[in-house]
Amino acid sequence: MATPDRQATTLALAHALSAAERGLAVIPLSRTKLPALRSPHRDDPGPAPCHGECGRFGHGVHDASTDPARIRALFAAAPWATGYGIACGLPPHHLIGIDLDTKSGTDSSAALRELARRHLFTIPATVVVRTPSGGRHLWLSGPPDVVVPNSAGRLAPGIDVRGAGGYLVGPGSRTEHGVYTTAPGTAHLPPAPCPPALLRLLLPPPRTDRPAPPSPAGGHGRGLVQFVLAAHEGQRNTRLFWAACRAYEAGLGPALVEPLVEAARDTGLTEREARATIASAARMTGHRP
Ligand SMILES: [Zn+2]
Repeated sequence: MATPDRQATTLALAHALSAAERGLAVIPLSRTKLPALRSPHRDDPGPAPCHGECGRFGHGVHDASTDPARIRALFAAAPWATGYGIACGLPPHHLIGIDLDTKSGTDSSAALRELARRHLFTIPATVVVRTPSGGRHLWLSGPPDVVVPNSAGRLAPGIDVRGAGGYLVGPGSRTEHGVYTTAPGTAHLPPAPCPPALLRLLLPPPRTDRPAPPSPAGGHGRGLVQFVLAAHEGQRNTRLFWAACRAYEAGLGPALVEPLVEAARDTGLTEREARATIASAARMTGHRP
């Protein structure tokens, strides 16, 4: 009974060590894809402010390391681990994971291609990890001075982003759903730099003079229109796209098409550009333009 698990743990450790050799910081994961080691503060009252300063294991992604001795110690403390997680956002790669899901019934690969077409970037050749459910993780590297947040479905339905504080299940991991593997021919590629146009989409909307990003529901979308109106050259299309996505998600899409087109024209976009961007936002959020 214990033998297959021990074998899975040994395999996971071997894969984790080889990831660490490439500069990727790792933690052991259980079959459920969660960090294998539980928090030593789990019985403390209130939220634990500790990120490992106490010196014990069990701080999730904060335990991640590239040091083989520490990795062996982490796995020794979690002999039930059958996989490993790779921490995102850490030097030297500042890894960003683009998680293309298949569960939601949406074609997330097509959605990514559509984003690439609209925002004029190409998906570079890079490490691709296949998940047991038929999904794919694209590994990209980010610039050191940019913090990419985790997000779920913000880029498009079915596309999650793993950034700072997040982790990716490493290839060679065994979970209760099966094994993660690298797509043929991609295992030895370095994580490719994230295309700048994609990186912009991964970042929170640019700050305005206003204290917070507009809430779609507030004032029947007036905040979204203001958000577009306040765009500087270079962010007009991105802001319009962002606002239109939020509008469609809030059920205000059809009502806001004309006000958003007007606002976009005020910032200097042509009507045609504005309508194309809004139509793309509609498709991206699962609506008919
Ligand atoms: Zn602690």
